[in-house]
Amino acid sequence: MRKETQCIQAGYTPGNGDPRMIPIIQSTTFKYDTCEDMGKLFDLETSGYFYTRLQNPTNDMVAAKIAALEGGSAAMLTSSGQAASFFSVFNLAGAGDHVVASSAIYGGTYNLFHVTMRRMGIDFTFVHPDCSDEELEAAFRPNTKAVFGETIANPALIVFDIERFAKAAHAHGVPLIIDNTFATPINCRPFEWGADIVVHSTTKYMDGHDSAVGGAIVDSGNFDWMAHAEKFPGLTTPDESYHGVTYAEKFGQGGAYITKATAQLMRDLGSIQAPMNAFILNLGLESLAVRVKRHCENAQKVAEYLEKHEKVAWVNYPGLPGNQYYDRAKKYMPDGTCGVISFGLKTGREGAQDFMTRLKLGMIATHVADAHTCVLHPASTTHRQLSDEELRAGGVLPEMIRFSVGIENIDDILEDLEQALA
Ligand SMILES: *Cc1c(COP(=O)(O)O)cnc(C)c1O
Repeated sequence: MRKETQCIQAGYTPGNGDPRMIPIIQSTTFKYDTCEDMGKLFDLETSGYFYTRLQNPTNDMVAAKIAALEGGSAAMLTSSGQAASFFSVFNLAGAGDHVVASSAIYGGTYNLFHVTMRRMGIDFTFVHPDCSDEELEAAFRPNTKAVFGETIANPALIVFDIERFAKAAHAHGVPLIIDNTFATPINCRPFEWGADIVVHSTTKYMDGHDSAVGGAIVDSGNFDWMAHAEKFPGLTTPDESYHGVTYAEKFGQGGAYITKATAQLMRDLGSIQAPMNAFILNLGLESLAVRVKRHCENAQKVAEYLEKHEKVAWVNYPGLPGNQYYDRAKKYMPDGTCGVISFGLKTGREGAQDFMTRLKLGMIATHVADAHTCVLHPASTTHRQLSDEELRAGGVLPEMIRFSVGIENIDDILEDLEQALA
């Protein structure tokens, strides 16, 4: 099936007389005839459900759709994008380990790595996506367990060179994890460029309707854990909490990573997505291909409009031919990038706030990548604790407006911009 068809059909095929939609299995628990039947599930001897903290059928059907869209071997849903990013790394690295991460990542991911996971004893080296080969090489250590980057960084809109970082990661025997939230599998499939694991904040385009916070992790099934067994003992040696099962042996290259993340991390940390939210996410996925196309068309027109406007100082959108990342975006995302644009007004920080207050259609919201056009001024909201100097150092200019173009009629969006700028 092609992507547009997978959005509708993948993950669930109803049998004779079954519900057409993925059913919401709103049940915490599942019934068995004998203790032995259930015992086999606890030993991972057979697959099945016993408690929704670990797995739920609704979630698994929606995860299977996302796995199909990404071209992966297995996937799981998490309660949020943050949980997905955390699990994706913690499934490979523990205290004493190290990870190489792009410095152009979502602020929440940066805090998770730089503050919270450091507290757990995992060290991170942040490298700029455009660093030299020498800098990238120097970032690796003998205890490095993964490389992490973001296809299109939120909010910097830097396009990541997936192929280059995948080669570097593989040369050091570790997988590349990609946050593919902004591009979505409609515009980019990181596995085709060598990435090994993909994470999503499904809260953004995948849900796409301001309705359900969620996350997903997808495994490509391409990384050979056994070939680097000494680096990943969690996957390649017996797990005592599961009667000595060795994930990479029992579940193979395509199943080990997600099975371990489910059986261990979900069991112990309990960050499952509610089945009701998974159902809502699936409604979003069904129209994902249509919406993403429209987001990109609208964003392209908004970027071109802003670029020509006399009151606009600068526009950052990888779809603009003059953009620093235009060529890289064309390579990885020939059909379009995303619906998010950033720009600055000649009137600076004050002008930005004034302009935003005057928007009638574009709502001020801590959100992006959604059907509704929305707008955020990072310097006065998400990054308000930072001084202007600190903002500049972090690549967030004080006047920067993050404009997330929705799927409304483009003329209404442009007219709203026009009147607010006037
Ligand atoms: C929002 C976002 C996240 C975090 O996702 P939540 O669902 O809010 O936890 C991670 N990565 C990117 C790129 C995001 O935009």
